[in-house]
Order: sequence, then structure tokens, then C-alpha cells
Amino acid sequence: MLQQTQVERVLRYYPRFLERFPTVASLAEANLADVLVVWRGLGYYGRARNLHKAAKELVERFGGELPSTLDELKSLPGFGRYTAGAVASIAFGLEAPLVDGNVARVLSRLLLIEGAPGDKAREAALWSAAGDLVVGARPGDLNQALMELGATVCLPSSPMCLLCPVQAGCGALAAGRVDELPPPKKAPPKKLLDLAVAVAHRDGCVLLARRPDGGLFGGLWEMPCAPIEASGTSTLRKMLGKRPVVGPQMVILQRTLTHRRLRLHLHPVDMTPSLRAPPPQYVEWRWVPFDETHTLGMSSAMETAMREAVPGLA
Ligand code: SF4
Repeated sequence: MLQQTQVERVLRYYPRFLERFPTVASLAEANLADVLVVWRGLGYYGRARNLHKAAKELVERFGGELPSTLDELKSLPGFGRYTAGAVASIAFGLEAPLVDGNVARVLSRLLLIEGAPGDKAREAALWSAAGDLVVGARPGDLNQALMELGATVCLPSSPMCLLCPVQAGCGALAAGRVDELPPPKKAPPKKLLDLAVAVAHRDGCVLLARRPDGGLFGGLWEMPCAPIEASGTSTLRKMLGKRPVVGPQMVILQRTLTHRRLRLHLHPVDMTPSLRAPPPQYVEWRWVPFDETHTLGMSSAMETAMREAVPGLA
């Protein structure tokens, strides 16, 4: 949960999650749909899918316990180098390094490690430096101290060098280069995705469809939608068949995700109550009573769109 998300926000979800899934076994036995509901609102749903997969693997391969070697941890879904290093050092006291954005900033300033975020030589130098530092009796504490230093003192702009406990050994401070390191990240432009969204509701129910488990928004529910080809109306006609009446676009909602920008083009659609097989990009679809929509896993972007477009769904 803490990947890409601040502690204060996670604290609103963590107890609820543990209450619902108190053990690895209970998480492994659950349906992904149930996991996504409890995760709803926390975003980055790939983490929930990986956590669920990892719980299954822990039960199948490790008797329901977390393995205690770095290689075994790295073999679990969702355990990249950073997460494996954090768990190995904090939970098992192994001398395993970790580098997140905060640690990268601290080390690049302390040790004058050059290069922009994403640069391969810089990443290698950072991991090597973190590995040299983590040797000793309390590797977990060292890693947490580095992360905390970056989060609270060695800030991206206006770091608090006068209060910094390692100022005496800081290369950037001595060289007067604190403002230069690290250089800003060259972020690639975010891909734009225009989706035509069918807003269909009747008799206190809204039409929602569920995506298959992998990929963007995998396992989540949403108002049926598809990437716009020629126009939103023709895209929805192609997706839904000839019988539903697709109205003109009501509104466009914009959302920015980690790697892309979403534009949701909302169209009213008049559908008959009986539904045929869902469009091929979905595993199921159904009319969901308004007061049950909160029981389904749904992205924040789609939830906002649904609440804005469907009258009576506050
Ligand atoms: S002295 Fe300043 S730049 Fe150096 S590690 Fe501390 S806060 Fe960061």
C-alpha cells in the first residue's frame, strides 16, 4: 500500500484491509473482486492484484509464510528490488539495500552521485552505494533512516541542511551543489487515451461491466467503454450493437494516471433491461442497483464519472 502512496492515506485503508483479510491464507482464498472492493479508492490497483497473487504463491510455495531470503522475496508478484530489500532488511534483519525516490535523492547529494533519475549508470551507482551503507547490525533501521531523512529533511526543494544529522559528510553541501542534485527527471509525455463511455441506467440501476483480471483497470468494474475510433457515438454503437440508442456526448471528464491521461467521453445510452453477452473486452456485465455500486471494485476516475453522469447516484 505504501508504494507511491503517503502514510496518512494508507492509514485509512490498512486497518480495514487487515480486518477483512487478517491472514495470508484468508487473502489467498478470497476472490480478486473482493480484494479490489476493499482496495477501492486507494488507486494503483496493480498493487492489489499483485498482493493477491503473492498471497496465493505464499500459500502454495512457502506454507503461508513470507520467505526470508532476498531471492525468494524477489520471486513473488509485486516484489521488485525495492520492496524485497525493504522486507528483507526490516522484517528479517538482512543486509539488503533499498533505493526509493527519497533514498536516491539523499545518496546523490551525500555522495555526489551524478545523473538524472532513470539514468542506468546512476541507478547502478545508487544501489551500489546503498549496499555499501547497509552493512551492520541494524540494516532495517538504516534503510528506514535513509528514507525518513529524504522524506523529512533532505527535501526535493529547500532541504533543511542546517538541521541535517549528516551535514558534516555531505558532498553536495560542501561543494555548494545541493540545488543541482539530483537533476530533474525527464518524464516522457503521458499517453492520451480517449474512451467513449456508455452511461446506461434504468429503474434505479446502472449498467456496469467487469474487466478481465490483467491489464489496465484489470478486475475492476466500470461503465462500459472503449477507445474512441472515428467518434464516441460510432464506437459505442460498434461495442453495443444496433439496438441500444446512443445519445450525443454529454461531457468529457479528464483524469491523469501514472503513465497516461484519460479523457472519458460520456454518452447517454438507452438499453433494454435484458442483456446479451458482454462486449468482448469484459468478462461480465449487469444492472447494478445504485445502493450496491459501492460493493464493487472501481477506479476513482470511473466512480467520479458515474456519480457525475447518473442522476440519483450521489
Ligand atoms: S546536508 Fe542537506 S543536502 Fe546533504 S543530505 Fe543533509 S539535507 Fe541533504
